[in-house]
Formats: sequence, C-alpha cells, structure tokens
Amino acid sequence: MKTIIVGGGLVGCAVALELARRGREVVCLERAVPGAEASSAAGGILAPRVEAHGDEDARVLGLESLGMYEAWLASLGADVGYRRSGVLVARPESPDRDAVVLSGAELARVAPGLKVQQAWWLSDEALLDTRRLVPAVRAAAEAAGVRFRSGVSVAKVESGAVLLEDGERLEGEVVVCAGAWTPAVSGLPPLPVRPVRGQLAAVADTAATTAVVFGPAGYLVPRHDELVVGATMEEVGYQRGVSAGGVRHVLDHAIQLAPALAASTFLRAWSSFRPGSPDGKPLVGRAGGVWVASGHFRNGILLAPLTAARLADAMLDGAALPPAWRPDRFA
Ligand SMILES: Cc1cc2nc3c(=O)[nH]c(=O)nc-3n(C[C@H](O)[C@H](O)[C@H](O)COP(=O)(O)OP(=O)(O)OC[C@H]3O[C@@H](n4cnc5c(N)ncnc54)[C@H](O)[C@@H]3O)c2cc1C
Repeated sequence: MKTIIVGGGLVGCAVALELARRGREVVCLERAVPGAEASSAAGGILAPRVEAHGDEDARVLGLESLGMYEAWLASLGADVGYRRSGVLVARPESPDRDAVVLSGAELARVAPGLKVQQAWWLSDEALLDTRRLVPAVRAAAEAAGVRFRSGVSVAKVESGAVLLEDGERLEGEVVVCAGAWTPAVSGLPPLPVRPVRGQLAAVADTAATTAVVFGPAGYLVPRHDELVVGATMEEVGYQRGVSAGGVRHVLDHAIQLAPALAASTFLRAWSSFRPGSPDGKPLVGRAGGVWVASGHFRNGILLAPLTAARLADAMLDGAALPPAWRPDRFA
C-alpha cells in the first residue's frame, strides 16, 4: 500500500525513511523544500533530561530516542556534526536527578568562556548541526525509494487520500507531519498544535564552550564554525522574521553567560515555528481517518528516530504507541 506523507520536515523525512526501509512505497509532499522550516532552524540540542522538566514520560521517551541516535545517524552514512558534547546548566536548581555539579578547573576546561561559579553537568546529552540533518535524512530516504515532491501544498486530508491545492487527488494511507501548520490542514479533527516562534542568532566565537550551555533564559550551542545562541519563545502566530527585541534578548542572555562574546563577530539571525503542544509532548497516532506525527514542540530533533520507529511499528504491525503521545489525550 502507498503511504503519503504530508510535510517534509525532519519528522516527515524520518517517518518516510523508516516506512520505505520496511518495504512501503512512500511519497512525501512538501509545500516548500524539505527542511524549509523548524527542522533546519533548530539549535540541534539532544537533551532529554533538561527538556523533560520533571515529566517522567517525556524523560523516558526522550532518553529512548537519544539512545537510538548514534545507530540511526550511522545508518544515514552522513556526517551531521553529531557530538556527545554534554550539557551544562547554569541555573540554581538541579535540572535532573542525574546532574552533578561542575566547578573550578573542570568547568573552565569544558566552557572556558563561561563566567559562572558553578553549573550542573549532564555528560550524556548531545548536539548536532541541523543545517546538515534534513538533507542527510532526505538523501537516505530517496536512496530507500521515497519520492519527494517539493512545492506541493496539501489542502485537505481524508481517510485514504489527500487533495492538493491545485485540485489533484492522490490516494494512499495518509500521515500528517505538517509541524506548526498541522491545524491548517483541513480534514483533521481539532488538534491543539500551535506555532511558537523561536529566534536564534549566531556569532563567530567557537572557543567559548565545547558543551551546550543552558542559562536562565536560553542556551549556547557550539558548532565547528559558529556559536548558536537562542532562543525566544513567542506566541505571535505565524508572523515570520526576526525582531530587534528578539535578537537583543538572545544576544544579551549569551553575553551575560559569557561576557567575551560581546566582542565576537555577529554572523546572522533567523527564526522558525516550533509545533507547540499543551504539555510539550508530541501528538503521534490516529486522528480521524489518518495518522499524525506533530506537536514535537522543543524536542522534534531529539524525538525523530523514536517517532519514526514507533509510528512504523503501529502502522505496519499494529503495535501500541506511547499513551503519553496520544493525539486525543486533550479531548
Ligand atoms: C528556534 C527553534 C529551536 C529549536 N531547537 C531544538 C533543539 O535544539 N532540539 C530539538 O530537539 N528540537 C528543537 N526545536 C524543535 C524542532 O525543530 C521541531 O520540533 C521539529 O523540527 C519539528 O519537525 P517537523 O517536521 O514536525 O516540523 P517542520 O520542520 O516545521 O516541518 C513541517 C513541514 O511541513 C510542511 N508543510 C506544512 N503544511 C503543509 C501542507 N499543507 N502541505 C505540504 N507541506 C506542508 C512545511 O513546509 C514544513 O517543511 C527547535 C525549534 C525552533 C523553532
């Protein structure tokens, strides 16, 4: 049976790849180009313990996905800048029961530019470069037989078919992976997914820290060629762009953590929309007559391998999906 994926972000590409590897015929419909939105804008932090915020389901599922990451990336055969960098949390309260305190020489070794007395340390968390991730997953999916159609906007979904904006109708099993735009796809039952804009900036300093740093109101993500500083959390609907206040916020926060960054060359700023959900966890499962994998909020990069594997298990073998991800849990 053919499967039609609506949306070519990381979630859509990962689901397409998984289904094709398990023998399905898959077409992925993307209204722009694959990776145009949140998935290539994201910071690329894989930090399930910090992002769980005390939610045990989120922590367990996030750790499971992190545990899959290295093998999943190896199967892509591409370098996406993945590194088990560890995460520093420069906040008073402990972020997780596994966190230990780092101070003095150890802290200076991990993050020479950081001007705090001590920070919490989680050694297993990782990072990757989201500029390279979707192209790598897309290439692997194409090699596995997935057909991508760019510049194709889906207007409506129904059980067993999609209707495109230009009136074309395609038949197949439907999986909606439309990120923050999921509620705009007609034919779905009401799903509480909303856009949460995040603004990020990059500066040229690559020596301030080797680990991801979470501060009181944002984070620093070291890449080989830049330091990403982010991110705002804004309820502004689908208003695109970067604002002076948003860029000031992320730069101020970064400079507060590492004052020498004030002298670093400013490279660029950008924004995109997180697919927000009321409890921060995704909506993965049946919704009406179609499948949906959306609402990954702040953790869609982290959760992509697990989402794809669990959804494919459910679609092909009838396996149960995590109850914490049920799309109807807010009803
Ligand atoms: C600023 C920022 C920082 C982030 N940092 C991190 C991080 O460090 N770690 C982490 O794990 N997560 C992070 N995230 C979250 C992560 O980026 C998202 O959860 C994830 O990318 C969602 O993937 P997606 O494929 O669902 O959505 P998207 O990447 O947004 O893809 C959805 C795709 O669907 C397409 N589409 C929509 N409607 C239609 C339609 N009708 N027809 C055809 N195509 C359609 C869109 O064009 C888009 O390409 C961040 C997000 C942002 C915005």
